[in-house]
Amino acid sequence: MTRRLSNTADGPKRSCTLVLAGGAPRSYSPGLRMSTQSPPGFPHRHLLGIEGLSPLDIVALLDRADEAVEISRQVEKKRTTLRGRTQINLFFEPSTRTQSSFELAGKRLGADVMNMSVASSSVKKGETLIDTAATLNAMRPDIIVVRHHQAGAVHLLARKVDCAVVNAGDGAHEHPTQALLDALTIRRNKGRIEGLQVAICGDVLHSRVARSNIILLMALGARVRVIGPSTLLPPGLQRFGVEVFTDMRKGLAGVDIVMMLRLQRERMNGSFVPSVKEYFRYFGLDGDKLSHARADALVMHPGPMNRGVEISSEVADGAQSLIREQVEMGVAVRMAVLEALATHLPNA
Ligand code: ASP
Ligand code: ASP
Repeated sequence: MTRRLSNTADGPKRSCTLVLAGGAPRSYSPGLRMSTQSPPGFPHRHLLGIEGLSPLDIVALLDRADEAVEISRQVEKKRTTLRGRTQINLFFEPSTRTQSSFELAGKRLGADVMNMSVASSSVKKGETLIDTAATLNAMRPDIIVVRHHQAGAVHLLARKVDCAVVNAGDGAHEHPTQALLDALTIRRNKGRIEGLQVAICGDVLHSRVARSNIILLMALGARVRVIGPSTLLPPGLQRFGVEVFTDMRKGLAGVDIVMMLRLQRERMNGSFVPSVKEYFRYFGLDGDKLSHARADALVMHPGPMNRGVEISSEVADGAQSLIREQVEMGVAVRMAVLEALATHLPNA
């Protein structure tokens, strides 16, 4: 079943084809350019989104990431897959955890990693994204990891450079490595993804994490519910094949995984919620609301958390929380992605 996905207010300008649960291989996406001479294995030159990855691509990355977890747990963590390669982390939005996670991943694979926070430099001086891309390209990097506040900016950049590009979050569009690390965390704890009931809760409207997760989870056969106030749910969500709820207790009934989202106040231009206190009362995850999920339900959050806004400390630090484990899985998934893309680099 192929459906059109309507774009959210600040979503990408292109429309995209999505194959929903039960659907076989998805259509070619402009977001992921297939290499003309793909070696066997991961058939993409860039990782620009989950959209465009086949279930097989996703599972292959998760399997590779399981191995990377083992490497990261050893005393000697260094591999040579990216030895001699240059990785640039180009962040137009402030980030601490994603940037350091990509940095560690690159270093564990032997790459030389350079971090560039553009928010504070050239952009302020008026340089365009294209100019920044051209400048960096001239430095001959092998991989660029990009985060940008505008949906679609990473795709644009990928067309302007010669190296592999990884999307580390573009506006409200996609954050593919977050969805992959979430899937890895779920699979390691529940043993599977297929057939699980997953609730994604909160500010779905502004969330690239929600979007990437919905696409990935549906592709691997999970059943997805989305819960939030109607002002924070994009119109036409049902067309993704997800169930939509505006009541936490009803939406959480019987779910296996509760994925909370940060209230993205920096992306809101207007009043989407009456007050933080009221938001917590109706949509914040506390022990009472969580008790409606399955007794063995697990709780996730991509970070950074607003304690007392979308999640209580009691739940965030409680026995059902996987939030710390998600961070560990983040490094492993990024190692897996960098390694998979490295197979397409010249002289690989
Ligand atoms: N947004 C958070 C941060 O900036 C986590 C992330 O980067 O994804 O640290
Ligand atoms: N860290 C995630 C992101 O960058 C989630 C968030 O910031 O709320 O999208």
